Amino acid sequence: MAETLLEIKDLKKYYELKSGFLGRDRRVVKAVDGITLALKEGEILGVVGESGCGKSTLGRSILRLIEPTDGEILFDGKNIRALKKEELRQERSNMQIIFQDPGASLNPRMTVGEIIGEPIELFGTETGEAKEEKIYKLMDLVGINRSYIHRFPHEFSGGQRQRIGIARALAVDPKLIICDEPVSALDVSVRAQVLNLMRELKEKLNLTYIFISHDLSVVHHICDRVAVMYLGRIVEIASKQQLYSNPVHPYTKALLSAIPIPDPELKRERIIIPGDVPSPANPPSGCHFHKRCPYVRPECSDVIPPYVEVEEGHHVLCCLAGKETVE
Ligand code: SF4
Repeated sequence: MAETLLEIKDLKKYYELKSGFLGRDRRVVKAVDGITLALKEGEILGVVGESGCGKSTLGRSILRLIEPTDGEILFDGKNIRALKKEELRQERSNMQIIFQDPGASLNPRMTVGEIIGEPIELFGTETGEAKEEKIYKLMDLVGINRSYIHRFPHEFSGGQRQRIGIARALAVDPKLIICDEPVSALDVSVRAQVLNLMRELKEKLNLTYIFISHDLSVVHHICDRVAVMYLGRIVEIASKQQLYSNPVHPYTKALLSAIPIPDPELKRERIIIPGDVPSPANPPSGCHFHKRCPYVRPECSDVIPPYVEVEEGHHVLCCLAGKETVE
């Protein structure tokens, strides 16, 4: 049985917005609003939702790239929020991030060797020949030809640049990698290659991923478990099989109904959710989804529903979950 690597308890990230005369109108944006979850070693957890749902903020808050407002982050038995600056810097070698746009996240003035070698230097893990050998090995691992070591990022395709980004993240032998939309900036033709590479690396190096994406097909391809976010909260979390075959939350059902089926004979009825995603600066009371929900009940606007475990490991934030079929 795999050990728990990461535990997040009631994690919150709030931003205060000031507007009006002398900034007297204040509003709080609850980008991440009380997230609790646990991740086992070697697991791939997908975090999905529309843009603005807080999934990227969640990823950055876990690494403390942005400082959470409240809550606990336990990583490998350590309380991440209690770490001092230098302790946190050291711990970051165990927790890395891969960004969406490899073109923007790689320094255009550095060569591939320098980009991959930089974190090794920063953490002082290898020096001299050992460092050089490690850079070559990482290039082999992600499928970048060794002879390209002195090339610059603009000399590579988007897919190759993301491979370089992955090699850089792996340079300090992390346990956890947060992948923030890692393939959404890539051409469809190379997405599967990069996803397959990430899967292979996970197996080879016993990595654990949090895989953030707005694309449920991509998440289905790579993840073991999936959390669906809506306006800062997880509304449903389950294993991939449970979520895709038996979605319970009305929002999850609508998201899944929008995935195209690559077979003209098969038809799936698309569930259209009325209205736009409300502003996180002014979310609806109670269940944040109540203004768009086709099953809304009078109480939905007053109280936040509790999580209901509808089957083992399948949790849903909806007052109807487990009581009656939401169809
Ligand atoms: Fe819809 Fe109410 Fe469930 Fe929210 S709690 S998803 S409004 S039925």
